[in-house]
Amino acid sequence: MARVARTVVVRSTPLPKKVFRVFTELEGMYRNIVEQLAMYAVRSNLKSFTKLKALKYREMRNLYPQLPSHYAYTACQDASMRVKSFLKLKKLGLAEKEYPEVKNISIWLDDHLWKPNGLTSIKIATHKGWVEIELEPHKQYWKYINRGWKLSSEAKVKLDKKSRQLLVYLTFVKDVEEYEPRGFLPVDVNENNVTVLVDGVAYLFETNLEKVVLGYYYRRKRVQEKYDKLYGVDSRIKRKAMRKLKEREKKSDLRWKVANIVVKVACKKQYAIVLEKLGKKPASSMIKRIKDKQLRHRIFQASFRGVQRAIEEKARERGVPVIYVNPRNTSKLCPVHNTEIIYSNSSRIGRCSKSGESWHRDVVAVWNLLLRARLGDGGSAPSLGGSILDVTRVPFGSNATHEPAGIPKSLWARWKSLEATSSVPKLCKTTL
Ligand SMILES: [Zn+2]
Repeated sequence: MARVARTVVVRSTPLPKKVFRVFTELEGMYRNIVEQLAMYAVRSNLKSFTKLKALKYREMRNLYPQLPSHYAYTACQDASMRVKSFLKLKKLGLAEKEYPEVKNISIWLDDHLWKPNGLTSIKIATHKGWVEIELEPHKQYWKYINRGWKLSSEAKVKLDKKSRQLLVYLTFVKDVEEYEPRGFLPVDVNENNVTVLVDGVAYLFETNLEKVVLGYYYRRKRVQEKYDKLYGVDSRIKRKAMRKLKEREKKSDLRWKVANIVVKVACKKQYAIVLEKLGKKPASSMIKRIKDKQLRHRIFQASFRGVQRAIEEKARERGVPVIYVNPRNTSKLCPVHNTEIIYSNSSRIGRCSKSGESWHRDVVAVWNLLLRARLGDGGSAPSLGGSILDVTRVPFGSNATHEPAGIPKSLWARWKSLEATSSVPKLCKTTL
């Protein structure tokens, strides 16, 4: 049984000035506490929440005695999360400042600091006592409520000063039981496509995430430069434009779409999803031609980690087991003969060094992932029987290329499931 959590943002109704002021004050005190804690933690290289709390709780508590005591507690959690990710970036050489900037504040609440008040309102504990807030629930919120998700005790609140509303981040949780897998669905992720092997047929979803990330990067840079020139480095109007850009990027996020399709297939067939175990910097060699360190990191995060994370998250929601196998040489070994495949000048098609049959790089990868999963080579991968001889199912003839059904982004991005492929017969064995 695994616990799945999803966060939903619900707006409050616009608050009267007087009530909103209470939250502005609360936010000010909370921010100050988090800032002090973050500075202290970075200075003393403290990553543990428990230690931070043990050392600083009393002091923070005394700083604002009028504040409900649990804010000192949640601020410690908040600060230690910020410090952890800051120190991680710093280690990678990606942090510019000395201390983490506490720019965006959402006030962390625990079960002592808020409670639901029916389904459409909540109460929040403040320095002025309990304040009742009416919510403006939306479709997604009701979906979670009606599908049996439960509200967890943690919540966050952010202030929208312009509209005098609170943004309430509610977390819904559900316990999901993982099924026993009846087979495997290997998924190979790289910076330009996602390939899945469904019962012997390889589907290649074109994502071009590398290009997408690069596009975002340059667009963002252009906007930044334009506004810097016009309004100075720290203008409100620039922040707004950047935020809009970010929202647009989020909306067109292909990762969730491809993850949805993959997980749905796995769930329907009751298969386990097989992914490569990504090391710390496993794929950096694949994108090493990108010189900019930060950009390389970003592409890696979006294309490899990002797709994997989306698949993992969707899988958890549906109880689909995910197993990881060793990614070493997955695209270099012939799945039939276990010999090296030779690729000449960066082609995605190679030839088996033993029998000379040709292979598409991404197809090789998914077959090898499948074999490794079957052999239980990957630590946590259970062996579902089946031996290496099962590759008789690999459709190979001495001259046939093992081509995936390449599916351009423009097509699949609108699909809800893989079944849509059957209505597009022309797809098979095309674009390479
Ligand atoms: Zn071979």
